[in-house]
Amino acid sequence: MHINDAVFLEDLCPKFRFRQWRKSIHRFTGKSCIYCGKPSESIDHILPRSQGGLSTTENCVPACLSCNGDKSDENALYWYRKQKFYDPRRAMAIRAWLEGDLRLAIRLLQWANPDFKVNYKNYEKDESKYKAA
Ligand SMILES: [Zn+2]
Repeated sequence: MHINDAVFLEDLCPKFRFRQWRKSIHRFTGKSCIYCGKPSESIDHILPRSQGGLSTTENCVPACLSCNGDKSDENALYWYRKQKFYDPRRAMAIRAWLEGDLRLAIRLLQWANPDFKVNYKNYEKDESKYKAA
């Protein structure tokens, strides 16, 4: 968990909105880590803040503490390729997420994990809310 990230995000928006935003990020993947599929306990920056990565929905993914801590300040796409649990479908999902195509990212994650179910109705509602904000 990056303590500095949390401080940075809370500086940008009130605490309540920050919490809602975090929740919405976790909801997109059904509260599972985008990298390994375990329960997501934190938010990870795909492109680390130390490399100019922003705290936007496109750059922030749900991650378990193990992946988040292990990845540290590495670029997620490079780091992920080296992992034992590497799955090309998840790698494509991470790339799609980074490009802002959350619908494609979720589709790819579903492909990687057929047990993973998403309610698209909720997803659409969330997306419009966060785009308008
Ligand atoms: Zn993980």
